Amino acid sequence: MIKSANLGFPRIGARRELKKALEAYWKGESDREALQKTAADLRARHWRLQADAGVDIIPSNDFSLYDQVLDMTAALDAAPARFIRQAGADLDLYFAMARGGPGAPAMEMTKWFNTNYHYIVPEFHAGQVFAANPQKAVGEYLEAKALGVETRPVLIGPVTYLALGKTKDKGFNPFSLLPLLLPAYATILTRLKDAGATAVQIDEPVLSLDLSAVQRAAFGDAYDCLQGAGVDITVATYFEGLRDNLDLAAKLPVGGLHVDLSCAPEQLDAVLGAVGEDTTLSLGLVDGRNIWRTDLAAALAVIEKAKARRAPETLVVAPSCSLLHAPVDLDRETTLDPALKRWMAFAKQKLEEVSILTKAANAGRESVAAAFADSDAAAEARKTSPRTRNGAVRARADAVAPEDLARASGFGVRREVQRARFKLPAFPTTTIGSFPQTSEIRKARAAHKRGDLDDAGYDAFLKSETQSAVDRQSRLGIDVLVHGEFERNDMVEYFGEQLDGFAFTKNGWVQSYGSRCVKPPVIFGDVSRAAPMTTAWSAYAQSLTDKPVKAMLTGPVTILQWSFVRNDQPRAATCRQIALAIRDEVADLEKAGLAMIQIDEPALREGLPLRQDDRRGYLQWAVESFRLSASAVRDETQIHTHMCYSEFNDIMPSIAALDADVISIETSRSDMELLDAFADFDYPNEIGPGVWDIHSPRIPSTEEMESLLRKAADVIPPDQIWVNPDCGLKTRGWAETQSALANMVEAARRLRAMRG
Ligand code: GLN
Ligand code: ZN
Repeated sequence: MIKSANLGFPRIGARRELKKALEAYWKGESDREALQKTAADLRARHWRLQADAGVDIIPSNDFSLYDQVLDMTAALDAAPARFIRQAGADLDLYFAMARGGPGAPAMEMTKWFNTNYHYIVPEFHAGQVFAANPQKAVGEYLEAKALGVETRPVLIGPVTYLALGKTKDKGFNPFSLLPLLLPAYATILTRLKDAGATAVQIDEPVLSLDLSAVQRAAFGDAYDCLQGAGVDITVATYFEGLRDNLDLAAKLPVGGLHVDLSCAPEQLDAVLGAVGEDTTLSLGLVDGRNIWRTDLAAALAVIEKAKARRAPETLVVAPSCSLLHAPVDLDRETTLDPALKRWMAFAKQKLEEVSILTKAANAGRESVAAAFADSDAAAEARKTSPRTRNGAVRARADAVAPEDLARASGFGVRREVQRARFKLPAFPTTTIGSFPQTSEIRKARAAHKRGDLDDAGYDAFLKSETQSAVDRQSRLGIDVLVHGEFERNDMVEYFGEQLDGFAFTKNGWVQSYGSRCVKPPVIFGDVSRAAPMTTAWSAYAQSLTDKPVKAMLTGPVTILQWSFVRNDQPRAATCRQIALAIRDEVADLEKAGLAMIQIDEPALREGLPLRQDDRRGYLQWAVESFRLSASAVRDETQIHTHMCYSEFNDIMPSIAALDADVISIETSRSDMELLDAFADFDYPNEIGPGVWDIHSPRIPSTEEMESLLRKAADVIPPDQIWVNPDCGLKTRGWAETQSALANMVEAARRLRAMRG
């Protein structure tokens, strides 16, 4: 019999119960017992839900109070030395690592492969030791067992754990720690076995990356050691096909291998050829990362193909990856357009799909005929729906010509025209767009949404906020102003709500990190713009001042990257449609008298494919989309862009290829590490390396910012340098914002004086 499995369930809760419990605990409004109770209730509910869905292999230890990689750090007793360990204070230590503790800055956080989930980066140093701390894994296994649910505990694998970590020790290779790490893993496995577990899932998503020789060798060593523990290990890979790592993965001395056939369906034949008959093959057929319903007939055809070559008891049907990246329950979307809802599946529905597919594989499609008929009908409805296709948008996208991707003149010409127009001082100062989203603003927005504040009242309120932001910037002596983005809830949602082809869920929350969740818009159809989206606010701000106001737009790649994207056409095609809509907005802003327009692309880097081989193709269409959105303006209109959240050194040439007149870019958090890139790459246009890390409430001094600017001026010609913070200021308060900006303006003046 073929079995069904799940690799992980979203832990945040359908009503974001975990978020609320965590935040109450952190604020001191509740105690540890209350937090643990909420966590246990969620686990119990989710195990029950999976059992009810008919899933045979249900995970445990996939739950986390913050992050599964941090859990592994705790399970390996690998907390960095700066955090205080106290008996009975494991939870305090855990949250201190995630969020910072007394005198101990938090551990770094970064994106989990190519998802929008963030994990806590392990820190390694020479001489590090590990010890097994299996309490959580064993405890959750027993907890499920007590509820009558037999589970398969999940761990992050040793190779992935080492590969994801960072070290500050120069010349130190974390893989030298492997021999010390493996005994701790082996102990955890033994303790799980002692508790009664017969199988474990060990996640090794690094098998989706380009691996070094050291990493490849580590796989052999690691699993030779771990198989000795005597539990049945399934190694889970996801987010990409295995490609040149297939042989390595297939030959691991383990009981099972899970492969992602949702993002890499093309690997099926190779996988079937490579995985031995003694190894259980877990087919990741239900997309764990998107909200679209599975075409059951198509998925069943894949299973049939596998069945033709292997014994059924060596096959498992599963989602492609942990369902952590999907919202919890579509049933709660009571206001979503029923036609669209019919095309979707959230975590709960995806498990039902897994279960139906497994039944069909074992007992024939007829045994679940109604479900298949419904799936066929939904797939057909989606394929033929006029709502996904707009002939005019398609014709326009097809007609894009090379000249649409370039400004009328090169940067050299534009620069002269723009200098003559703006007459800015050297080291011009500006900000990234948003100003503090105060509680008054959030209250007014909520009241407006509820209907307690009418349109006119809300509009007047936003106007007064905008006016006061313009006044403050003028008083501070900033050279290029912004309107403040007070009318925007979120930089993608704001645009999605005004574009055709987008839908919004009520509860489609997905964990981003810790207690933070995002609710990505759904792009279901061709994208087009019915009317100008931002011109009124930018024009209003410009009417209040003689200084240039920089209009603010979110770029096509970022809108794509932060949405659930339709899977019935290439992402590049969807991105181009968004770019055309933004292009029209840019043209309208120019017409409305805005002389500077910023198109934010903070997500450009994170869209980069996991494999080197795929990167060139991605960068090509991503850069083209940006250029398409930015190129329809006159030479004297200045296009800005902004990037953050990533290290950009490795994609500098593509950033230059965007050909924005000015880019503001996050750098101060990494103490200007970015500037290393300029040693061997001459960035051609103007650039503002961020001098204020806005992620912390700390106010940088004038001297500090001055010294960062001097560092920048060592590697970038001074007449190309702008002065700005790392990112938008919406999470900061006004008091700190004013002080920091005053210092920033003063730092720019000092640099001018030095030059002058
Ligand atoms: N213009 C946006 C802001 O200032 C940019 C945000 C971002 O880069 N994430 O808020
Ligand atoms: Zn930013």
